Formats: sequence, C-alpha cells, structure tokens
Amino acid sequence: MSVIYQKVALIGLGLIAGSISLAARRSGLVGQISGTARSAETRAIAKEIGLCDVVTETAAEAVRDADLVVLAVPVGVMGQIAQDIAPHLKPGATVTDVGSVKQHVVQEVGVHMPDNVHFIPGHPLAGTEHSGPRSGFAGLFEHRWCLLIPGEDTDAAALSRLRAFWEGMGAYVDVMDAEHHDLVLAVTSHAPHLIAYTMVGVADDLRRVTDSEVIQYSAAGFRDFTRIAASDPTMWRDVFLTNKDATLEILGRFTEELFALQRAIRTGDGDHLFDYFTRTRAIRRGIIEAGQDTDAPDFGRKAVKE
Ligand code: NAP
Repeated sequence: MSVIYQKVALIGLGLIAGSISLAARRSGLVGQISGTARSAETRAIAKEIGLCDVVTETAAEAVRDADLVVLAVPVGVMGQIAQDIAPHLKPGATVTDVGSVKQHVVQEVGVHMPDNVHFIPGHPLAGTEHSGPRSGFAGLFEHRWCLLIPGEDTDAAALSRLRAFWEGMGAYVDVMDAEHHDLVLAVTSHAPHLIAYTMVGVADDLRRVTDSEVIQYSAAGFRDFTRIAASDPTMWRDVFLTNKDATLEILGRFTEELFALQRAIRTGDGDHLFDYFTRTRAIRRGIIEAGQDTDAPDFGRKAVKE
C-alpha cells in the first residue's frame, strides 16, 4: 500500500496508539511516526521498543509538521490536550481521536480546533482489557469497525483519506453522528461494562466464596465478566462521566427488564424466561454471522490438557 500520511503524531502511547503504529507501519501507510505520553516511564518504554520514530516530551512537539494527529488518551483529558496542541498544528492537517465517547469529544476538542485543520473524530470498535505501551498489536483493527464522525462541513477529501487510513489497517469504516454513536455504544459496550464491573464486585463482596470457589469454578459465565471488569479504570471512569445521559437511559431500561425477569423467576413463569432466552440467543447468532465473533465452543479457548 502507499503512504497516506507522511507524518503521523500519536498523543498517548497505550493499547490503541501502539496498535495504530504497528498496523500503519506494517501496511506502509505512514512515512514517519512521532509520539508522546504523559509519563516519562511510558515514553522510555516507547523508545526502547521503537513504537515511534521520534518520542517527544510534549504533545506540542509531537504534532509539529504532522499531517495526521491522533488523540489516543482517556476521553476526560482530550480537551486539555487539544488546547495545548492547537497553536502548533500544521495548516491542512487532520486531527482525529479514538475515544469511546463522541459528543463530549466533539464539544471539548472541537472548540479548540483552528479553522485551517480538519477535525474528524473517530472510534475503532476494537480493544482488549490490556493497556499501556506494550499491549498493542498490528492485527487489533482487522475486520473490526471504525466509526468516523464528520461534521456538516467536513472536507470530503480529508474524510476519504482518513477512511483509507483505517481501511489500510484492516478496519471496516462507517460514518455516524455523535449522538447516535453514544447511544449505540451505551447499549453495546458501556452498559455491559458497568454490569460486568457490578457482577464482579458482587462476587467480591461474598467473601466466603471469593478466595476459593469463585476462582476455581469461574468457567460458569463469571470468567467472561472478570475479563471485561479488568479493563482500564481511568478509561472507563471517563467513559461513564462523559456519556452520562445515554448510559443512564440504557441502565434504566436494563433495570426494568431485570425486574421483569426477577418477577418471572419468583412467580415461576417459565414461558417468559424461555421466550426471553430464545430471543437473546438469536442475537448471539447474528453477531457470529456478521463475523464479529467465533462460534467455537467456549469462545475458541484451547482445552488445557493435564
Ligand atoms: P491506555 O493503553 O491506557 O493508554 C492511554 C495513554 O494515554 C497512555 O500512554 C497514557 O500515558 C496517556 N495519557 C493519559 N493521560 C494523559 C495526559 N493527561 N496527557 C498525555 N497522555 C496521557 O489506553 P487505550 O486503551 O489506548 O485508550 C486510549 C483511548 O482509546 C481512550 O480514549 C479510550 O476510550 C479509547 N478506546 C479504548 C479501547 C480499549 O478497549 N482499550 C477501545 C477503543 C477506544 P501514561 O502511560 O504515561 O499514563
């Protein structure tokens, strides 16, 4: 593939930025990559493993002469970083982000963007429960969706260039508005994470089982909750603080459904339970048919032989 952006600046050097660096280089989409992170420790690791061609002390230095700037930090700090980099952006550059919430980013970053840059927020729907500069991998975005959030007057050429960049890293790209994005993600990601955090928290409260049975017998559904509940606390704190309305709306509906199921159990309404579980099973089948997960037993985990 040919180079799409001569110089890319990565602000934040964790799972997502690291994966962008590895994927973009593998496909030959970038000339040079500069990057920075908050801590000296992360910057040192990035240098050691060669995550970027140049690691700078500040975001302002990293964005100098960059054709694409990617904000890959927790959602809550994006506004401050946008303010810091604004005077140093190259005219004609594209600024994007990978944050999990979009209305907040549109407002907090957009307000600082100069007229002569293209600001096109984004969100790759790909991740793991790992974080930090060593956690990225080149295949993270393959066959995963990346949602781009152009504004009404977004430059068509800048948008198609950014689309080509994500497609070059193996992603499918779709365009969405910020409000719709935040509602969809509240259903598919944010509320499920909160439920997983809660379930693991409840198990932890049952101290009599925590030390032994919960660990030993975790295959029975609980293990999948613990994987999600191991996700980065800073990132997820910011997601809930910045996607408040949509998350509360979905949690309200969730609570109503939970009460209905609770009542069905109490009154012995087996038909209600059976019909409900039949409907949800069909959703799982749809996800597999869409190529977004495997139908291998136990999520494709390899059987461990003694
Ligand atoms: P991560 O692995 O924890 O990396 C975050 C990076 O941001 C770190 O390099 C951190 O630096 C840096 N950072 C934090 N605060 C900063 C500040 N004030 N100034 C400069 N740098 C700062 O996180 P990630 O998983 O890559 O997530 C990054 C973004 O992607 C988030 O907005 C998240 O919502 C979004 N996202 C995440 C996933 C996922 O599953 N993880 C999926 C899609 C989108 P230090 O290491 O020095 O602290």
